[in-house]
Amino acid sequence: MSIYTGPVFDMARQQFHIIADHIGMPEDQRDRLLYPKRAIAVSCPIHRDDGTTAVFQGYRVQHHLSLGPTKGGTRFSSSVDVGEVAALAIWMSWKCALAGLPYGGAKGGVTVDPGSLSLRELEGLSRRYMQEMIPFVGPHTDVMAPDMGTNEQVMAWFMDTYSMYQGKTVTEIVTGKPVASGGTAGRREATGRGVVHLAMRAAETIGLTPKTAVVQGFGNVGSVSAAELAARGVKVIGVSDHTACYADPRGLPVDALLRHVAAKRVLAGFSQEALADPASLLTQECDILVPAALERVIDAATAADLRCRVLAEAANGPTTPDADVVLAQRQDEIFVVPDILCNAGGVVVSYFEWVQDLQQFFWHEDEVNARLKQILDRAFGQVTARAKRDGVGQRTAAMAIGVEKVYAAKQVRGLFP
Ligand code: NAD
Repeated sequence: MSIYTGPVFDMARQQFHIIADHIGMPEDQRDRLLYPKRAIAVSCPIHRDDGTTAVFQGYRVQHHLSLGPTKGGTRFSSSVDVGEVAALAIWMSWKCALAGLPYGGAKGGVTVDPGSLSLRELEGLSRRYMQEMIPFVGPHTDVMAPDMGTNEQVMAWFMDTYSMYQGKTVTEIVTGKPVASGGTAGRREATGRGVVHLAMRAAETIGLTPKTAVVQGFGNVGSVSAAELAARGVKVIGVSDHTACYADPRGLPVDALLRHVAAKRVLAGFSQEALADPASLLTQECDILVPAALERVIDAATAADLRCRVLAEAANGPTTPDADVVLAQRQDEIFVVPDILCNAGGVVVSYFEWVQDLQQFFWHEDEVNARLKQILDRAFGQVTARAKRDGVGQRTAAMAIGVEKVYAAKQVRGLFP
């Protein structure tokens, strides 16, 4: 029996075995590659504004130490459990290896709806979670970053809490911080920027000049992706978050949507006329589809109904293995930019932030963006070449490259890491 259960972990395991079969990995090596090095579970008590005390469960899963420290985001969401966090940590490992970063994957989270907390309560929970994690993280052990439900402010609280326990400022303990507290230029935009850069590369590969796009999720990744698409002249004809869904074939006013979300935090209340059914958002006809919210939103049935040309997976794990089978069988090929490639911009610029913090030597945003593009283009080239060579889809190719790198490091190092 393993503590790692649930549909998201099952999906990560299923994907891993597809890759292990593809690269011919012996059975006895597989559990060693798949199962996390360690998992930490903590209870985080906070004082609520009404004077009561509440306790939230938090987790951190560190997948492997074979290539360096672990690295990965922290998610605040009511769906968080140890299986989901482990799956996200495993995907981070393949992603970091594919991008050539010196990290193993990690992920953390707290089971909480962050929208139900006041700012004071969110600060209390963020600080308590980091305080509980202090014995298990460090700039050369495990470096956190933002994910769903957390942001630059939460990272600043994490960094401050860790630092005060060390008696000195340790900016390199987390990435995705505000520039004012040791963050890097370009980190907040990095994931969405990378998503759109790679979606355009994919379009170019199939000879498509994209005119329309649909974006699910309007948080950090979704909103920046929408802005980048609009800046490149692609009409954003559908968007959604957990509160509202809007569509307009003439193109939605992305700037106005961004201003609305900056003021209200959510899309709800933006427009009555453009309201649309969230159930049909993903199957709307468009050139580029960007799922930028949750896992497992594209199942086999949705995959059969997709009407996009490029599927740019900004979220982690948006497409189930069953959906992959359907996509592979479709005659009208959809170019899938798989999550571990598509959203890698975030961890790549997190790596730049860590390097800058360790050296206390900061780069200009142009340099950050140019180096980001270089790494993403290299990975994109490797994935498309591997897909062609092996006659497989982009996901299998991307994951095979990532898994092989970790496997090779484990083989030369031995059993410890
Ligand atoms: P976020 O919390 O900033 O935004 C999440 C968005 O998803 C919100 O707009 C929320 O309303 C929306 N959402 C939630 N449930 C929804 C639903 N049922 N339908 C439609 N929208 C829904 O989170 P984020 O940082 O933008 O992360 C989004 C995805 O991208 C996650 O899968 C995350 O793991 C992945 N990701 C994030 C980063 C990063 O740098 N932040 C990097 C790589 C991957």
